[in-house]
Amino acid sequence: MPAVPPPTPSAADSYRHRGQRRALVAELARKGIRDERVLGALALVPRHLFFEPAFESHAYHDKAFPIGEGQTISQPYTVACQTELLQVREGQRVLEVGTGSGYQCSVLLTLGAEVLSIEYNRVLFERTRQRLAQLGYGRAHLFCGDGSVGLPAHAPFDRILVTAAAPALPRPLLQQLTIGGVLVVPVGNEQVQRMVRVTRESADGFAREDFEEFRFVPLRGAAGWGE
Ligand code: SAM
Repeated sequence: MPAVPPPTPSAADSYRHRGQRRALVAELARKGIRDERVLGALALVPRHLFFEPAFESHAYHDKAFPIGEGQTISQPYTVACQTELLQVREGQRVLEVGTGSGYQCSVLLTLGAEVLSIEYNRVLFERTRQRLAQLGYGRAHLFCGDGSVGLPAHAPFDRILVTAAAPALPRPLLQQLTIGGVLVVPVGNEQVQRMVRVTRESADGFAREDFEEFRFVPLRGAAGWGE
């Protein structure tokens, strides 16, 4: 069960919104998401409150959507798939690279993780910090900077989730995993990427698994595509 109790229905998160979320979650289950904890978390987080009010009607379609600064809130199927692959357990320390709107971060918090999230773009960082505080997700630890090199001062992490496309496995992130830790990252060119999961089996031993293809915005920074 998700670690955060459901919010009380209000004008901001009405019965209509909840019904739309239930329909979206049923669609994600039909598309192959099996983890009940992940589906439960997506049923709780009010995705429409991560949109500008004028675009709220797009929130419960299974689509990515622009959030400004040339960036997007990921498609719900992508969020569900990455979260399922991450296999997050309550109390684990999770680093998210690419805070964006803060939606994925809120899903991870709802699963009971301690979340550190880093965003490259300062405008998005400031906007999302305010939004998460207003929505009751203020316990996330938010950073602004180049997350392609992780957060060495706060490592190690049980889980690392990258929500932008990397040209190769970012080595600094591998080094910041605990033994038994898991990294989920889309790897490929700037057009299409394959979802990759890496499990750290020992200090020098890493097991790699490849999954389906996705399309993400590029990961900037030193272990990404540069500035
Ligand atoms: N997880 C986000 C959400 O729930 O809305 C969606 C992320 S969006 C697809 C990718 C984000 O990664 C963008 O906000 C982008 O600015 C950010 N980004 C790109 N390169 C980065 C880097 N090196 N460090 C941190 N964030 C980065």
